[in-house]
Amino acid sequence: MSDALLARARELDAADPLAQYRESFELPEGVTYLDGNSLGALPKATRERLMHVVGQEWGSDLIRSWNPTDAGGDWISLPQRVGAKIAPLIGAQANEVIACDSVSVNLTKLIGAALDMRPGRKIVVSEPGNFPTDLYMIQGLDSAEQRLANRDAMLDALDEDVALLLLTHVHYKTGAMYDMAALTKAAHDVGALVLWDLSHSGGAVPVDLNACGADFAVGCGYKYLNGGPGAPAYAYVASKHHDAFRQPITGWMGHKAPFAFSDTYEPADGVSRMLAGTPPILAMAALDCGVELMTEIGMERLVAKSRALSEFFRTAMAEHCPQMRCVSPSDPAKRGSQLSFYHEEAYALCQALIARGVIGDFRAPDVLRFGFAPAYVSFADAARAVTELADILETVSWDKPEFKQRAAVT
Ligand SMILES: *Cc1c(COP(=O)(O)O)cnc(C)c1O
Repeated sequence: MSDALLARARELDAADPLAQYRESFELPEGVTYLDGNSLGALPKATRERLMHVVGQEWGSDLIRSWNPTDAGGDWISLPQRVGAKIAPLIGAQANEVIACDSVSVNLTKLIGAALDMRPGRKIVVSEPGNFPTDLYMIQGLDSAEQRLANRDAMLDALDEDVALLLLTHVHYKTGAMYDMAALTKAAHDVGALVLWDLSHSGGAVPVDLNACGADFAVGCGYKYLNGGPGAPAYAYVASKHHDAFRQPITGWMGHKAPFAFSDTYEPADGVSRMLAGTPPILAMAALDCGVELMTEIGMERLVAKSRALSEFFRTAMAEHCPQMRCVSPSDPAKRGSQLSFYHEEAYALCQALIARGVIGDFRAPDVLRFGFAPAYVSFADAARAVTELADILETVSWDKPEFKQRAAVT
């Protein structure tokens, strides 16, 4: 390993106010984990919480745990309680956010709600190359018509036929971040609503939905929020729309009085009408632990660390791996907590790195992506990844058949 780079990393780690939080996660010895933007690491508290929920709340208290019990319980309000904890991370009020379903399902609910609130308009504007599910969910609704515009032409795509602007705030592949305030205003100027996908933003970059006047948002629970594989997602509905919005997946848990068992749907108040079916309690409890840690650290410290870490990595890459072309914005204020690099052999490079214990990921067709989850990634991790990659490039050790074999999930 380059001695100067490692020495510098050690200095930065020694001065890092978040260094202690690494201990709050279970990270295996010898692994440098730069993929928390795809699956966040396991908080130690989650293991204990799940043991309690499974052993005591489910195992002993059984169905009584839907209501508050001596051991905890109160399962029924977990979606709202977890949502309220997520709210300060994204500049929202506690009663504007709820944890439920997947991002995909929440997109369908909110695209449907927006179209319903803009009768006579069908067009949903988004960008080509957006995260696929965002586009697929527009395409799945007969009432919606998709209009795709490139980033630099986004403003021209907005006119009085547009019902909704649906964008991913931080692009999953490049890390490029939209100006949320400016685009929200531009959409409102033509009478359209806005839905932000915060999957790569929540817990990683500053987001102020209230200050931007955003209408709707969705975000992912298993990335920077460390909620575990397939964790519930979250949804935000601005309080100004709490009376007017109706979403199409009108399940019993979103009913005003689910246990009245009425034949007729009547929406619950506010964001609670985003619920559809019974919440997955084990997954919800795990998400609660992940979110708790993020709120304890606070967005300001998370953002400061994320920027310092990714800048350290970017400058080290430019020096030690100059053949990797960075495709993320060089200004840390204009990107998410990740850096992506173009290389024709990105897939094999990624596999060769994983074989050495450095986990980043590959995004088709030719991007090598590194995520910097600020709560647990150290500067020494970043230094190690750069040094290993430099060695792999120099020795061409990526050029082996086993590194070119594609798995089902990449
Ligand atoms: C990860 C991610 C999702 C995930 O959607 P699910 O339906 O929860 O699997 C959606 N959108 C974006 C932009 C993502 O990065």
